[in-house]
Amino acid sequence: MGNVTIEDVTKIYGGEGGLLAVDEISLEIHDGEFVTIVGPSGSGKSTLLRMIAGLEDITDGTIRIGDRVVNNIQPQDRGVAMVFQNYALYPHMTARKNMSYGLKLTTDLSDDEIEKRVNDAATMMGIEDQLDKKPGNLSGGQQQRVATGRAIVREPDVFLMDEPLSNLDAKLKMHMRTEIQRLQEELQTTTIYVTHDQEEAMTMSDRIVVMNEGDVQQVGTPDEIYNEPTNLFVADFVGSPAMNMFDVQIDGSTLTGSSFTYSLSDERRKQVREHVDDGDKLVLGIRPEDIKLVDSSGQNTVQAYLDILEPVGSDNYLYLEIGDNECRVRVAGNEKPTEGETVSLKFDEDDIHLFRRDDGVNILAAPEVLQKVST
Ligand code: ADP
Repeated sequence: MGNVTIEDVTKIYGGEGGLLAVDEISLEIHDGEFVTIVGPSGSGKSTLLRMIAGLEDITDGTIRIGDRVVNNIQPQDRGVAMVFQNYALYPHMTARKNMSYGLKLTTDLSDDEIEKRVNDAATMMGIEDQLDKKPGNLSGGQQQRVATGRAIVREPDVFLMDEPLSNLDAKLKMHMRTEIQRLQEELQTTTIYVTHDQEEAMTMSDRIVVMNEGDVQQVGTPDEIYNEPTNLFVADFVGSPAMNMFDVQIDGSTLTGSSFTYSLSDERRKQVREHVDDGDKLVLGIRPEDIKLVDSSGQNTVQAYLDILEPVGSDNYLYLEIGDNECRVRVAGNEKPTEGETVSLKFDEDDIHLFRRDDGVNILAAPEVLQKVST
């Protein structure tokens, strides 16, 4: 079984007093799930993946694959197969040899069985015609497919992928994203995928683990992570262009920003008051696509100066100033307000996120979402 249980796992590089790379993380990854670990560079993603692979010692805690504690089990005996960012192919071996070599070395499979597995994996990855070439004669995308094929032939319980698409150009990356998803659906093999690219995480995963500074910030479906970020870090990290953030203070049902006010409904006010008091400092978050351009300037409309309109094909990105604050808005490609003019903006109360400024917690996230915060 390919479920992976991570219990209070810590990694300190350089012994006691060294660098804390992973800080008491606990996670349950289910059999057959596609889970992406995402976060900025240095947040501990690779370290966590490498501990699951057995390539890095665990300082503290327990890792189980299936029912078996693997802390002291050699990488080749853990039932995992890893795909690396740089592919790690042997340059002097053909693609076929690269894919079969590990099996020859570590299993007692017959030559026929190995050949069958290599051919099947090559067909799956669409590289049947490339098997007699050496890596130097293959494109980046083909090398990536060989590296993935080499993982497939091992028939592991778990695939571990460390930024496997980082070295590919944008178009090929999009294509390979879909291919990896298709492959995972076909094989139903548990996959733990590390990336710094939030868009990759959002498009590929059943669930996403957002990490920062060695800690898990949130675990959830792409939908939960996007629509109910547990804190300011997740809200800011996920989504492009990023969520707009405005410092506000709450008094009664009014949120006062540096150059706008916003009135909450009674119902929302009650919900907010369970978490904050009058005078508390909050951050109002609103996604660029949740802000609308309106003609009138009534209640809860915000006046903004349109600095730049950036067409990106189907959409236009608007870069505006609201007093001293910058604001990004995404509108349909046929909406073209004039640069250099003042426009009125409106956003729905249901689309607002409110974070406490002192600890960054999203006070409007559902209790069950907040409960999942492991830190
Ligand atoms: P990410 O994959 O999120 O970029 P890493 O897991 O590579 O993060 O790194 C987490 C932290 O651990 C970083 O501060 C990094 O510099 C440090 N680190 C990673 N590998 C080593 C190592 N072999 N020795 C010492 N420090 C390391």
